[in-house]
Amino acid sequence: MTTSAFLAALHALLGPSNLLTDPADLARYCLDQRRRYRGQALALARPRSTEEVAAVMRLCAEHAVPVVPQGGNTSNCGAATPDESGHALILSLERMNRVLAVDAANNTVTVEAGAILTDVQQACRAANRLFPADWGAAGSCRIGGALAVNAGGMNVLRYGNMRELTLGLEVVLPSGEIWNGLRALRKDNTGYDLKQLFIGSEGTLGIITRAVLRLFPLPTARAAAMAVLPDPAAALALLRELQSEVGDRVTSFELIGRPCFDLVAKHFLALAQPFSPTPEWAALIELADCGQSEPLSDRLLELLAEAGVEDAVLARNESEIETLWRLREEIPEAQRREGVSIKHDISVPVSSLPQFIETCGPRLTAAFADAQIVVFGHLGDGNLHYNVFREDKSAHAYADEAAINAIVYDCVAEFGGSFSAEHGIGQLKTAALAHYRGGIELTLMQEIKRVFDPKGRMNPGKLF
Ligand SMILES: Cc1cc2nc3c(=O)[nH]c(=O)nc-3n(C[C@H](O)[C@H](O)[C@H](O)COP(=O)(O)OP(=O)(O)OC[C@H]3O[C@@H](n4cnc5c(N)ncnc54)[C@H](O)[C@@H]3O)c2cc1C
Repeated sequence: MTTSAFLAALHALLGPSNLLTDPADLARYCLDQRRRYRGQALALARPRSTEEVAAVMRLCAEHAVPVVPQGGNTSNCGAATPDESGHALILSLERMNRVLAVDAANNTVTVEAGAILTDVQQACRAANRLFPADWGAAGSCRIGGALAVNAGGMNVLRYGNMRELTLGLEVVLPSGEIWNGLRALRKDNTGYDLKQLFIGSEGTLGIITRAVLRLFPLPTARAAAMAVLPDPAAALALLRELQSEVGDRVTSFELIGRPCFDLVAKHFLALAQPFSPTPEWAALIELADCGQSEPLSDRLLELLAEAGVEDAVLARNESEIETLWRLREEIPEAQRREGVSIKHDISVPVSSLPQFIETCGPRLTAAFADAQIVVFGHLGDGNLHYNVFREDKSAHAYADEAAINAIVYDCVAEFGGSFSAEHGIGQLKTAALAHYRGGIELTLMQEIKRVFDPKGRMNPGKLF
């Protein structure tokens, strides 16, 4: 059958407002948020229900049309951007955006895959429950996308990443069949845990349409501080001391290097800088608890003093907590405004993190004298955003990307780490996946892909 027959069938199924074919309408869906990848698509479908997704997938199977699932299009790796062939259909989940049910007694929420993360957080808060997943793109990313990349964010230290926050999934397979694994169970040992295959699969196995996610009691007290630290080793020691004293009340521990403060000061003039002079290193720490009697901020201050922290800014209320977090959350945008950098999202065992920073920096500057390293991230998870700016901040900076990646990723491998901690592979890191996870690991992944998607139509060019 022809392309026009395929589009006519889709049109009949979805109606004109949920099938976009005009290149002007498609443009923003074909460009990734870092503006690094620009693809083309045959059309974009916006189904409104699982049954419509299944019908779209059956048509794609009949007509051998590749499918690119898309949520909020906030991937950092071009994972949701179609290739340049113009053959693929983008399947957007944006019309399936409902929070279906909060079960406070079961501590679960059931959502459609297109629900925006902040909408899920708010619906749960209204029911006195916490959905803890949170990161800078929370206002635009969608649950299906967050699941498909197994996103992490600011609260992984206490609550885990999307994999750990998920109890059940509903998925439409490339054939159009629906797998209903939408279970709200903490315990379910019934063979292979299929949902785990879809979490982190980056749209290469099927379309996640609904999810059951875990909730927690809503903390009644929060405290945050930004503490100046001499180096990452001191930051790690502080984290250990805090955890010894207050356990998992430490919900976030974010390391921030001096260049991050400089970039935020340059690009967000209205945002007050917490320290003068700017410190080499600082940590943004948050504690949270339920039913706390003493003010948590007093306890945090006391703990910082006991740990010998000489300079810190303590937030005195919710609004000051938000201001401290804005300093952290604007770092990615400040970098974007500064220009092109070679970005890495790496993890090493938490205990090795200071040594990794000490080892990798000198290797980079030995090879590239003008390299400026911008380090920040989730120290408590051993996960750093480790980005390299050069003097030339135009797209020419990508010329040395492979050489810079090799230095960073080889160093990560020496420390037993991962070259992709939370952003996934997309089309940016396919070569690294083949190199650092080659052999039997890659072969098994490719065989799993063949079981679900034997014709290779799901999100071509991503992962492999
Ligand atoms: C400012 C900023 C800060 C960020 N901070 C963090 C952070 O701290 N931690 C972190 O982990 N990530 C972070 N991210 C990246 C994070 O990966 C994305 O924000 C988010 O998880 C992706 O969701 P999305 O809806 O935008 O997915 P998209 O970008 O649309 O898609 C991502 C992948 O999922 C697939 N996909 C989308 N929906 C589905 C579905 N329903 N079924 C199957 N596959 C699907 C796509 O094909 C693609 O492969 C950040 C991004 C930005 C822009």
